[in-house]
Amino acid sequence: MIEMHDVWKVYDNGVEALRGINVKIDRGEFVYIVGPSGAGKSTFIKLMYREEKPTHGVVLINGVNVKRVRDWKIPHVRRKIGVVFQDFKLLNMTAYDNVAFALEAIETPRRKIRPRVEEVLELVGLSDRMFAYPSQLSGGEQQRVAIARAIVNNPSFLIADEPTGNLDPENSWDIMYLLEEINKRGTTIVMATHNKEIVNTLRQRVIAIEQGIIVRDEEGGEYGYED
Ligand code: ADP
Ligand code: ADP
Repeated sequence: MIEMHDVWKVYDNGVEALRGINVKIDRGEFVYIVGPSGAGKSTFIKLMYREEKPTHGVVLINGVNVKRVRDWKIPHVRRKIGVVFQDFKLLNMTAYDNVAFALEAIETPRRKIRPRVEEVLELVGLSDRMFAYPSQLSGGEQQRVAIARAIVNNPSFLIADEPTGNLDPENSWDIMYLLEEINKRGTTIVMATHNKEIVNTLRQRVIAIEQGIIVRDEEGGEYGYED
């Protein structure tokens, strides 16, 4: 479960990106984060994977206060959270190695790596592209690799910042069906998006943020903006 209690984020330049956020996201939920550019969506998401710390207030991930965790414990918390970005952020090595790297980083026994990488690449539909480099893959395929990497450790949460932002509509829908499948298998998904079509079609909980404040939180809600 993810909880935020009166969370404020004030950047060094004085910008109040979040101003008193209270929210609870339960295990197994699928949540869209929507709102205008500059509203605070990325900041909200960065607090969940501890890319940023709150200036005030408390962020709890499975009951752990992310601000208080000592540095040596962060990998332990992060392992429960997979992250996917708009620009994929793959390393310049094969799809297989990008995914295996995430397992090696947490000292998975060697004999367990290959079967798990193959399993997760199959789940995302890339069994036949395992040894391709990012430059040899389409945007949709690169995002699949990124998703495989994000879920290979069986995280409780998958956090996605505009995962379809660089994809054409067809690839965007394919990525969404994949995220739905991952959610059905038990992973909680929190996804910032500007994709009106997707939000209005694949109905889920919608949290709208404007000027750092949650202005709407609806189960099966609409996108609600024109862009
Ligand atoms: P969104 O994702 O909704 O576009 P952001 O969370 O990226 O919103 O940004 C919210 C506000 O915080 C914006 O005014 C943005 O310019 C500002 N901001 C974001 N990151 C930083 C940063 N690292 N330093 C200073 N200001 C930032
Ligand atoms: P995103 O697509 O994730 O919203 P942005 O374009 O808002 O990314 O920001 C890119 C990077 O620049 C992020 O790491 C963000 O924290 C930082 N950033 C965003 N706005 C500002 C700002 N006003 N001042 C300094 N850094 C910023």
